[in-house]
Amino acid sequence: MKITIHGGAREIGGSCIGVQTEDCKVALDYGTKFEESSSNQFPEDFDAVIISHAHLDHSGQLLSLSKKKPVIVGSKITREVTVALLQDMVKVQSKNDYNYPYFKHNANAIREHWWIRDYVALPGMTIKLHPAGHVAGARMTSIHSKNKEVLYTGDFCVHDSEILEGCKTQPLPKKPNVLITESTYGGKVRSPRSELIDEFFRQILAAMERKGNVLIPTFAFHRNQEMAKRIDDAMKKGVLPRYNVYTISNLANKITNTFNENKECFTKKIQRQKQPFNYSHVKHLYRTGQIKEPAVVICTSGFGHAGASLQLLKDWAEDENNSVILTSGYLPPDSPLKSAKEERRFRNNGDMISVKAEIEQIELSGHADQLELVQMVEKLKPERTILVHGDIEQAQALSEEIEEMTEVCIPEKGETIDI
Ligand SMILES: [Zn+2]
Repeated sequence: MKITIHGGAREIGGSCIGVQTEDCKVALDYGTKFEESSSNQFPEDFDAVIISHAHLDHSGQLLSLSKKKPVIVGSKITREVTVALLQDMVKVQSKNDYNYPYFKHNANAIREHWWIRDYVALPGMTIKLHPAGHVAGARMTSIHSKNKEVLYTGDFCVHDSEILEGCKTQPLPKKPNVLITESTYGGKVRSPRSELIDEFFRQILAAMERKGNVLIPTFAFHRNQEMAKRIDDAMKKGVLPRYNVYTISNLANKITNTFNENKECFTKKIQRQKQPFNYSHVKHLYRTGQIKEPAVVICTSGFGHAGASLQLLKDWAEDENNSVILTSGYLPPDSPLKSAKEERRFRNNGDMISVKAEIEQIELSGHADQLELVQMVEKLKPERTILVHGDIEQAQALSEEIEEMTEVCIPEKGETIDI
């Protein structure tokens, strides 16, 4: 068996791993890099492509396979959300680039070739998918072929969140020959989630007391719904006072409906509610002009590159009463939110905007931190562990923690590992 790291080596973005035997060839994920959306960098001759979850850094390159028509495997909610994100990508990219090679029917073709399965048998190979936490529908993938066992974690999270159960290690294959794991937070130990949530509410309350606005930039998928649900519940319980709270993203709204229609993906508590993602205190708006200030606004894009989050960052950055809450630990180097936070200014169309608003980073992310990653290795006892989906510093820090338990490899892009 050969494992080739086509993307997501020593970095976050463009995840794609090829697993090849004499009889068949599969891809684990087929993602874009955050800053590239149309480049095709991966082989196209796979018999099957397994998509771990619907974040575009794991699924965004699928349009380039729409004519090849390989079997695509993943959970139902991953299919629904991936197709919605690809349709949106086609809409946005074709507006900016008349030569953009894909159309809506290419996104729809992905849906047609998608098998919603947790078990697939291919020539000489069996594939099983296991819940991974992280986001709705996320799966780990185990591949068994000729006495070799490989487990790919995709992005995963062991602890529960308000809406999603964490990954359970018990059903995962023990002592696999190879564990391919993400290492996003390989060098970081996070505070307990309950402390982070308290801090999140403290920040919002402080801005509310100043009659300020709060901007919460998020992805349209999962984090948006998790934030809206958290704030809605807090207002119902009186943890937060009544305030104007909005989500602005038609794509997020569409995904929210998908969440309501697929309640079985979420916690038991969510499943007992009739329409769990129809909020009482959070209103959906279509554009920033509809906001009644002061307000808390959850909107895209997650890194502030475009959309309502860029607009509101520009509008609100210079007022010290306002607050921006970043809930992702990772920000790409060219992200306006990164320079707003670190340099207290950011560039917009040639103008430099200075930042007086508070910018807080509270990492409520759905990734395993170093403790969870090490525990995963302790429990599974893999012979060899391949670290992907993490900057080299994070991967090296994790490697130091686990190298006595397992042989560790931090491959470069394009590297092939024989097992
Ligand atoms: Zn992800």
